[in-house]
Amino acid sequence: MKNQILSDGQCPQCSQKNTNSVFQENSTGGYWECPICNLQLQMLAPNHLGILNQRGIGKLKPTVYDKNKWGKRVLLRKPQFEGDDCVIKNLDELNDYLVTF
Ligand SMILES: [Zn+2]
Repeated sequence: MKNQILSDGQCPQCSQKNTNSVFQENSTGGYWECPICNLQLQMLAPNHLGILNQRGIGKLKPTVYDKNKWGKRVLLRKPQFEGDDCVIKNLDELNDYLVTF
């Protein structure tokens, strides 16, 4: 098994609290955003979702992340969305990152 976390549009922060929340497109940056915790993500080639280091403000469009279209994507972290260092390897690393913003 690879050291990575996949998301099919479910918010990785809310799902750890047993809350189902699927990203929606936001109207502020064209990013994806969780309607509950406002985590923001950017869709990146080839199959990544980069978690921004800033929350959104909840201005959402009705477009919901469609897993049939965009599939399961590997979660990356800022500051850069390049290179293997940005792949979030496990939940501990994800949560350490999520508390920083
Ligand atoms: Zn969330």
